[in-house]
Amino acid sequence: MQQATAAIRVLAPEALQDLISALAATRVVLGPVRRDGAIVYDEISRLDDLPAGWTDRQEAGQYRLEPRTDAALFGYAVGPHSWKQFLLPPREVLFTTRQTADGLDFLPPPAEERTYAFIGVRACELAAIAVQDKVLRDGPYADTAYAARRENAFIVAVNCGTAAPTCFCASMNTGPKAAAGYDIALTELLDGRHEFLAEAGSEAGEALLAALPSRPASAGDLAAAEAVTVNTAAAQTRALNTENLPAQLAAAANHPHWQEVAQRCLSCGNCTMVCPTCFCTTVADHTDLTTADAQRVRSWDSCFTLDFSYLHGGSVRQSTAARYRQWLTHKLSTWVEQFGTMGCVGCGRCITWCPTGIDLVAEATALREAQNGNS
Ligand code: SF4
Ligand code: SF4
Repeated sequence: MQQATAAIRVLAPEALQDLISALAATRVVLGPVRRDGAIVYDEISRLDDLPAGWTDRQEAGQYRLEPRTDAALFGYAVGPHSWKQFLLPPREVLFTTRQTADGLDFLPPPAEERTYAFIGVRACELAAIAVQDKVLRDGPYADTAYAARRENAFIVAVNCGTAAPTCFCASMNTGPKAAAGYDIALTELLDGRHEFLAEAGSEAGEALLAALPSRPASAGDLAAAEAVTVNTAAAQTRALNTENLPAQLAAAANHPHWQEVAQRCLSCGNCTMVCPTCFCTTVADHTDLTTADAQRVRSWDSCFTLDFSYLHGGSVRQSTAARYRQWLTHKLSTWVEQFGTMGCVGCGRCITWCPTGIDLVAEATALREAQNGNS
């Protein structure tokens, strides 16, 4: 990927059908769809698959869809899905063993033949993908399947024109405008018209953009697009003060506030499942009594399960307080030591999808204030 180039065009909404069709010629195209009362990511082939005219209402522990008064195609914040489900699938066969007369054959999984195009990737999601890249692609133990999916994915980002009350990307410097990591970035312009400003971020994006029906962008179009993300940032009501936060959370390791959160936490793991940066997995061997085959399968796991920290003799993190502390301090403190960045991109999903409305921003702020002697 390259930084944005000078290729900036303006597209009519109908041109997105050409974009989808061009990408579908060589890839599985994935984008937002309205399903089961939420906006989720799934395969799309038509412009009509996009959730035109819908928005989401979010708060801690709450999510619902509502119609908009316009036909915006991307007029919502993020839903329960993230792109991690495609780059790091929830369940993946690592290898198969087959019993033979001489012993066991180890068979690798079939090579991934699908290449993806993601449409509607938000700035915080690009940041989340970059975080997972550090762990799964660029770290000392690269996941080759992940790396292959990433290498081949074509990314159409959409700058946010709507902020949910749970969003806090502006305070994390991860949004609402996509800075890098995309092939094409769109900004939906709804200022008395319905058009898209489209900016290429790679040579592949530039080539595709040049093939779409479009017109050159004027200074007015650029200003209108800039205003979209400026207004979205200004509309964010949640903010996390990250200054010195890793050290302050480390110093708060034994604060009674962890017990207070544990009174509300169900240890359900929802927050880790919806988080676009969480990458923890477990492996299990599955045997088939009808054949001589067995499979080793990797699946998403959560630090909220008792088994996740099981070592010989028992689980290390026995209490809910210990598990919540592990999760929050990993995201906002020890991740910085490990990967040089926070493990949180401010998408707000863990706040919305926590069944008891536990708010990472509020809990981190409470712990910071406790360390500052304010409680
Ligand atoms: S910790 Fe919460 S707000 Fe941060 S990236 Fe994960 S789901 Fe989003
Ligand atoms: S913080 Fe909320 S979502 Fe996470 S494990 Fe606890 S109850 Fe479940």
